[in-house]
Amino acid sequence: MNNMKREAEDDGGKVVHFIRQIINRDIENGKNAGRVITRFPPEPNGYLHIGHAKSICLNFGLAEEYGGRCHLRFDDTNPVKEEQEYIDSIIKDVRWLGFDWGEHLYFASDYFGQMYECALQLIRAGKAYVDGLSGEEIRRYRGTLTEAGVNSPYRDRPIDENLDLFERMKDGEFADGEMVLRAKIDMAHPNMNMRDPVMYRILHASHPRTGDAWCIYPMYDWAHGLEDSIEGITHSICTLEFEAHRPLYDWFLDALGVYHPQQIEFARLNLTYTIMSKRYLLQLVKDGVVAGWDDPRMPTLSGLRRRGYTPAAIRDFSERIGVAKRDSIVDIQLLEYCLREDLNKNSPRVMGVLDPLKVVITNYPEGHVEEFDAINNPEDELAGTRKVPFSREIYIERDDFMQDPPKKFYRLAPGREVRLRYAYYMTCTEVIKDEKSGEIIELRCTYDPESRGGYTQDGRKVRSTIHWVSVPHAVDATVRLYDSLLTIPDLAEADKKDYMAYINPDSLKTLSHCKVEPSLRDKLAGYRCQFERKGYFVMDSDSDPTAGVLVFNRTVELRDTWARIAQAGE
Ligand code: ATP
Ligand code: MG
Repeated sequence: MNNMKREAEDDGGKVVHFIRQIINRDIENGKNAGRVITRFPPEPNGYLHIGHAKSICLNFGLAEEYGGRCHLRFDDTNPVKEEQEYIDSIIKDVRWLGFDWGEHLYFASDYFGQMYECALQLIRAGKAYVDGLSGEEIRRYRGTLTEAGVNSPYRDRPIDENLDLFERMKDGEFADGEMVLRAKIDMAHPNMNMRDPVMYRILHASHPRTGDAWCIYPMYDWAHGLEDSIEGITHSICTLEFEAHRPLYDWFLDALGVYHPQQIEFARLNLTYTIMSKRYLLQLVKDGVVAGWDDPRMPTLSGLRRRGYTPAAIRDFSERIGVAKRDSIVDIQLLEYCLREDLNKNSPRVMGVLDPLKVVITNYPEGHVEEFDAINNPEDELAGTRKVPFSREIYIERDDFMQDPPKKFYRLAPGREVRLRYAYYMTCTEVIKDEKSGEIIELRCTYDPESRGGYTQDGRKVRSTIHWVSVPHAVDATVRLYDSLLTIPDLAEADKKDYMAYINPDSLKTLSHCKVEPSLRDKLAGYRCQFERKGYFVMDSDSDPTAGVLVFNRTVELRDTWARIAQAGE
């Protein structure tokens, strides 16, 4: 029954996963007057990654779907690790994904005053106390999964003393770590999170937004439910690791007697060959393993954007992976599949030669130039055509020629005829090599003038069509090819503790002598296209088209190469 429900789809063809089921039930029961208010609550201590995108698409997506709203709320409760740069990047990334929070942009730090008042309320109710144990002692007194904890000697301080000490904590009378405020719950509780959890700690640190106004900062569990409650969130969706925190989330809100949202946990996204920990990602940036948070190899949204990913692909992916209650790892091929689906539909096709080999067409008139009509996008009739210049000298891909081709190589070889895309049939007549190195430096070919446009009257067939760029019209370009940053699919299964042991040393390959067709000269950074036969590319922000500097990142190859890699590994 449950399974049937899970597989069911709604009118829009969307899977009615367990969170949609919960919301549907709530609406049926008239809970929250049928409203759906969600939030995405990042801590501004790093850049967002593809895992966050799942949470963003889920929270904003559900709000859209149910005619509700989703808040963007910065959970900025730890000034030591948080920075304005991160806040700015997060805003940019959520917008880029195509979501809008309207006027509902919030900061946990805006509630510090209210949180403080609520803490006083709990102290007055005898439900919180100031503890003078050190951090180390608190850990020791907490007990273990099998042993009850021990009450702190300060647990039964009189309420007045607690109020006094807490105020002095706030006023900066104590050093970091000297005192904490704890909830008075149960030191023998089977759930360790309920053993008098810390609510406030002293941190003499400047906060990006509140400056030096506070030197006590709320802990996540204390702060988060309150933030949800203050904003009137109906469904507080978070990842599974908070399941064991839910009793505490509930306890705080009940103890205060305030509006009580429902916390719902789902499994976080893990992706093969992908580092999904902010801490590790920060380390990659700090150690210079990558060029920054937006390095196109990074799984950050800024990295994926620079790599050429589209918001549509990421949103499609987020919907396809669904929402589950158990952790699993999603194959990165699925993300790339979604990407290709979108790029295939929307990318203009161009010709670019990554590893050029010069060809002189000996029977083509010198100085003559022809223009051929090239189809911009076979998947999109409205995309039209463009003119591509052709001349006596062209570049082809070095690996489209072999002097001694093996059986299944159908492309150019001595004496062999191939089709030049949109242009002519061409036959290789001579191979020119560097005398010293023996390297092939040029080919001589002849073309068939009767095959204009790439087709012959006599219906003669060739087995291969290759792309090309006219030498006098070619534009220089640098192309960056990427491979995954990790050498193993799942870091959780790594033998060594040090993730650096699994970093792929060949994740970036730069080709600096590429030749691309002239239509690319007047494109701008961010321009996405397909280099025919070579993959999908995006013009990188390092380009300066007016100065003739073109840099392209390969977003993804045309076909799935992972299957091939897996086979090779067998
Ligand atoms: P940390 O809390 O360790 O700094 P985090 O990745 O949880 O790291 P947050 O800023 O707390 O970072 O995340 C914001 C929201 O994104 C949270 O609600 C979190 O549950 C969600 N989120 C984070 N990582 C993933 C993931 N891999 N898959 C799905 N949701 C995620
Ligand atoms: Mg978190």
